Amino acid sequence: MKKIFLGAPGSGKGTCASKVSPRRNIPHISTGDLFRDNIKNGTEIGDTAKGYMERGELVPDEVVVEMLKERIEEEDCQAGFILDGFPRTIPQAEMLAKITDIDAAINIDVPNEVIIQRLSSRITCKDCGEIFNLRDMRPKEEGICDKCQGEIIRRPDDEPEVIQNRLKTYEEKTAPLIKFYEDRGILKHVSCDQEQPPEEMAQAVLATIEEFSKSLQEEVSGVLGLSDNE
Ligand code: AMP
Repeated sequence: MKKIFLGAPGSGKGTCASKVSPRRNIPHISTGDLFRDNIKNGTEIGDTAKGYMERGELVPDEVVVEMLKERIEEEDCQAGFILDGFPRTIPQAEMLAKITDIDAAINIDVPNEVIIQRLSSRITCKDCGEIFNLRDMRPKEEGICDKCQGEIIRRPDDEPEVIQNRLKTYEEKTAPLIKFYEDRGILKHVSCDQEQPPEEMAQAVLATIEEFSKSLQEEVSGVLGLSDNE
């Protein structure tokens, strides 16, 4: 039950992860959210990450891996987790492989034009990180989070010039992870050709996870069956 959700910024992987996590009963770990919490709490990690995040650049690998490692060693991660926004570089994926085994990487594939539209209209709760959208997912009450009543803001890195930078960083550094996990036989694609409601996307992701778990189980039973006959 250790999953990675891959996808460009704005592909909807965070929204999907937050919907899938309670249904599979495993925590949703977003490294972006962990950094934002660190910034809010004025920690050393937060101080290091802030400038990179504001420019739409990646925080250095060692900083993010150390933070992630600590998080997945916590009690609630023992049965599994969903990683959202990690790994984002090949060295991060290699470091992750040394820490733990991942059983599936789900690539959420959304056309670029949908991503740009989404990011430029995305608004987020300053307190709990819940994501809304000015076009089709507005909060019930203007400026107030439905979930925790916190203040809703536009993330500084959702400003148009930073969005361009984040997409460029994604193409250069993160997209190569698709082949990395494909080569390891654990990659599954969920394609969204047009603007799809988040619940539908989450259902498609869940169906892919279930199908993949089933085929893994069949493979394991096959191997065990062979041993039984020996
Ligand atoms: P996100 O909320 O996933 O879009 O992340 C927001 C920002 O946090 C990114 O643009 C990066 O600056 C930083 N960040 C999050 N995850 C990572 C990561 N795995 N590696 C490096 N930087 C990251």
